[in-house]
Amino acid sequence: MAGLVFGSFIAALTQRWGEGRSIAHGRSACDSCAAPLRWFELLPVLSFALQRGRCRRCAARIPARHLAIELAAGLIGALALLAAPGAAGWAGAGFGWLLLALTVLDSEHFWLPDALTLPLLATGLAAGIWLEPSLAERAIGAAAGYASLAGIALGYRLLTRRDGMGGGDPKLLAGIGAWLGWPLLPFVVLAAALLGLTLALLDRLRGGEVGRLTRLPLGALLATAAFPAWLLVV
Ligand SMILES: [Zn+2]
Repeated sequence: MAGLVFGSFIAALTQRWGEGRSIAHGRSACDSCAAPLRWFELLPVLSFALQRGRCRRCAARIPARHLAIELAAGLIGALALLAAPGAAGWAGAGFGWLLLALTVLDSEHFWLPDALTLPLLATGLAAGIWLEPSLAERAIGAAAGYASLAGIALGYRLLTRRDGMGGGDPKLLAGIGAWLGWPLLPFVVLAAALLGLTLALLDRLRGGEVGRLTRLPLGALLATAAFPAWLLVV
């Protein structure tokens, strides 16, 4: 239930941020007719189902992304508490929700804001005070995560005189390293790479142009690989 509520919040936050709007001001409104939404139109999943995915006033379709993000956040919360009941499970759910928001923003806007990656790093290190893995493994994971991607980005720029990576990617991998500890980082990077290659291959099979300069949201791939890794070892 908490996951559905957080999912609704993540869906709204990522949309407003992506459009450069304030998240603190303005009430939730229909994207089509701009009518402000009442409380019973803001219930995660339920409102969508009761209104059959349409606005009550103008009947415009409510974007399916909202429902997908709410369900994903609900699933993350359920899996986290199944894998680890209690404080560790809630911490893992928080990790998953931050990763979900980053995945959405990176997929839609190629953007990993510091306002999300830095809290990911800070909460990951703080969790090491109470939970496994140890604070030392987390600190090394954060440093290794940042240094490895920052090093690759620098090398690519020196070789090609182009930016091959966004500035947020090393910070994201630092945050993931802070949550998982250094021993898991190579597996997360490998899984993210395989996921990216699979997506590129599928795109190619559907007739897309995939080449040397094709952009993939690396951060979204890393974030998507990191949560299952947490589930497997918790
Ligand atoms: Zn409307």
